[in-house]
Amino acid sequence: MEYEPVIGLEVHAQLLTRSKIFCGCSTTFGEGPNTQACPVCTGQPGSLPVINRKAVEFAIRLGLATNCHIAPYSVFARKNYFYPDLPKGYQISMYEYPLAEHGFIEITVQGEKKRISLIRIHMEEDAGKLKHGETPETARFSYVDFNRTGVPLVEIVSGPDIRSPQEAGEYLRRLRAILQYLEICTGDMEKGTFRCDANVSVRPKGQKEFGTRTELKNMNSFRHVEKALEYEIQRQMELLKEGEPIIQETRLFDADQGVTLSMRGKEEAHDYRYFPDPDLVPLRIDERWIEEIRQSLPELPDQKKERFIRDYKIPEYDAEILTSTKAMANYFEECVRLFPQPKTVSNWMMGELLRELKRDDREVDQCPVTSKHLAEMLHMVKDGTISGKIAKEVFETMYRTGAQPAKIVYERGWIQIHDSGEIESAIEKVLQANLKLVEDYRNGKEKVFDFLVGEVMKATKGKANPKMVNELLRKKLKG
Ligand code: ADP
Ligand code: MG
Ligand code: ZN
Repeated sequence: MEYEPVIGLEVHAQLLTRSKIFCGCSTTFGEGPNTQACPVCTGQPGSLPVINRKAVEFAIRLGLATNCHIAPYSVFARKNYFYPDLPKGYQISMYEYPLAEHGFIEITVQGEKKRISLIRIHMEEDAGKLKHGETPETARFSYVDFNRTGVPLVEIVSGPDIRSPQEAGEYLRRLRAILQYLEICTGDMEKGTFRCDANVSVRPKGQKEFGTRTELKNMNSFRHVEKALEYEIQRQMELLKEGEPIIQETRLFDADQGVTLSMRGKEEAHDYRYFPDPDLVPLRIDERWIEEIRQSLPELPDQKKERFIRDYKIPEYDAEILTSTKAMANYFEECVRLFPQPKTVSNWMMGELLRELKRDDREVDQCPVTSKHLAEMLHMVKDGTISGKIAKEVFETMYRTGAQPAKIVYERGWIQIHDSGEIESAIEKVLQANLKLVEDYRNGKEKVFDFLVGEVMKATKGKANPKMVNELLRKKLKG
């Protein structure tokens, strides 16, 4: 029997407001523990929360950018549970009346477009952070830092429309790109500003009903999400084949072992005893405000892609990749501004640049080669200072050292040879060493020509101007 996975993702994204969602505490990351906490975010008796208007605006931005309907009326609700990082004993979230619903995100997988529906987007506050003692003296203790408590989050819940780990990865990349384009979230999974829980079940192909699902947590990179899903799908399929039941539960991904492990039984909504927060008035969102925000939305990935195709005349495939993150799109546009040959820039980015970044698991904004340096190097190729072949080595050196291309080329003596005397003497040597081939050529075996060109290039360590080598070699062979 063939099985098919069904996946739905819940993403928590931290909103980039300066202050927290219900108080004036700063959201700056990395300050000393508990230096950014007050009676409101630590839930002291008598304190009252007040909603941060900017956080609502950011959430609306996201709702509009993901084709959601923005609710004119939404309600904050208390989600009750007990954990040491949750000082109030409840988290302020939204339940029955979320801020936005019924949206979708379009992804492209293996050249095919697919819509993933969004069930809802709601606002909530983040919890604090527990730190466990690590030295022999502190090992018995756990510490809590409330700096993160009350930082605004949006939770984005997808429909169960995703059918493979690869689609899940694409969905997450697209959603993160949208958040970054909107400038409302850094999207950094390792720092936890963009977190994903994955719900997954498996069913016999052709069956309409969904199978029992598990919820996967603790994945802090896109790769982890894909790996955890792959493992879990396999595990569930094997259980089904054996006729064993699948238990609805929460499982943790163990990155070192590449497996998912049972953590706890899944809570049901009623375990949380949700009820409307009596300290907060419902949010009534004015149609005019929504329109204002809609008008002020920046260019989004799809729009940028269309513009790249139109204005830079690059293929759709290139445009798709170049707009996949804002950082990459910016890099491309800066480089093209300095070196106005878009397709050449695109080729270098999609080839050398992405290959190096991928190998190091880096993003474009951590690339040691700046767009300015790449443009400078492309100018050197264009004006003949260096050959295309040497350019690859220059690029690699720039990537390793971050140095300026002109400096590298000068220091290594990689400047292209245009001196016909020097090229002729290299040709002379190559011909002397290949007398048999010269004869073959003169007897009509034209194919040896390319080989001889290659030998001359080798003799000049790739520095000879290829066009001159061609011309001079042909002349020599004729004469
Ligand atoms: P909960 O509130 O318990 O987390 P939801 O109904 O809000 O449950 O669904 C959470 C996520 O689980 C959604 O992304 C949804 O698409 C996904 N989901 C629901 N049922 C299944 C299933 N059988 N298999 C896979 N994913 C599912
Ligand atoms: Mg859930
Ligand atoms: Zn506070």
